[in-house]
Amino acid sequence: MPNKKVVVLPGDDSAPDTVYAAMEVLRALEVPLDFVEFPPGEQWVRGDTDNAARAAIDTSDSALFGSTSGKTNVVGYLRWGKKTYANVRPCRYLKGFRSPLANPDGIDFVIVRENLEDLYLGLEGPLQALEPLHLSSRILRAELNTSEPGKYAIKVITERNTRQIAHFAFKLARRRKAQGHPGKVTCTSKYNMLRESDGLFRQLVSEVAGEYPDVKYQEFIVDDFARRLVQNSHELDVIVMPNLYGDILSDAAAGTIGGLGLAPSGCYGDDYAYFESVHGTAPDIMGLGIINPTATMLSAAMMLEYLGLSAASKRFADAIRTVYAEGKVLTPDQGGSNKTREFTQAVINSL
Ligand code: ATP
Repeated sequence: MPNKKVVVLPGDDSAPDTVYAAMEVLRALEVPLDFVEFPPGEQWVRGDTDNAARAAIDTSDSALFGSTSGKTNVVGYLRWGKKTYANVRPCRYLKGFRSPLANPDGIDFVIVRENLEDLYLGLEGPLQALEPLHLSSRILRAELNTSEPGKYAIKVITERNTRQIAHFAFKLARRRKAQGHPGKVTCTSKYNMLRESDGLFRQLVSEVAGEYPDVKYQEFIVDDFARRLVQNSHELDVIVMPNLYGDILSDAAAGTIGGLGLAPSGCYGDDYAYFESVHGTAPDIMGLGIINPTATMLSAAMMLEYLGLSAASKRFADAIRTVYAEGKVLTPDQGGSNKTREFTQAVINSL
């Protein structure tokens, strides 16, 4: 079989340090992959690099992506161009992670975030643009004066995308159940206030639940769920939610296990997936050589699994687990004093 092709987009600010660290481990694993590497954001040339990156993505099997603060322009293509509708964000405690919770052992759940719509369509503008809709003639909760200076943003929940993400979540819960997890999907949105949009999300997910009688189903309003995420994290399995709540709550979820440096993520479509950490570009620690590459490394391990390289994926994740269990080589966010490169070497030594 020919090698699979992976596009490597290091991203901006501190993100490349994490991607290069993950690449070092991938090379040490001698995985049968061909990497097509692009420059970090500082060297990105709008137009030229965009076009080359898009062409490479189109002929690739997957991509490993560092976060962007806007310089690495191609993330929109990975997401909307490749229709990677399911953002999967596992939150799993490993012994040695510096969790703020008293009993983090056993936390192991996955956020499935709808990745393409909700408030992320970019439909924002001046209030005056709403004038022709004559919205103030409708019965609204609050007064709307479209001649006042101000902005609007549009939230879109479609039946198609909601059903799609719901099926994805239930199938994932089913696969996890086969591995010994509870087999449960929790749906959350603000369905009591946003009765039309978030109400539709809840209604359709609960309808899809009927097609998976072997998977348990529950639903919570998102503010109530935010508390449960912290207090009852052990009871969670697969959680499905609209885009914005998923963005916010996955940072909170990362907090339960010990921070953003530990939280991986993959964005899956029907025929493409790319992988990146949950965290952003950490500009405040740029150049210090101390960023924790664990989140990007675990994302790379998810990529190996997606590409059918399960044994290599397991070796990668097991090596990370060993380094934390030993607790000798840790970056500052985990209470250690080691640099990114020392942590990376420790993972390689543990392979
Ligand atoms: P974005 O909006 O792009 O997701 P953000 O506003 O969430 O970004 P991050 O870049 O994720 O911001 O950083 C938030 C804080 O967490 C910063 O103080 C950053 O240094 C820290 N941080 C993020 N990732 C890591 C990491 N891998 N290792 C150590 N610290 C990190």
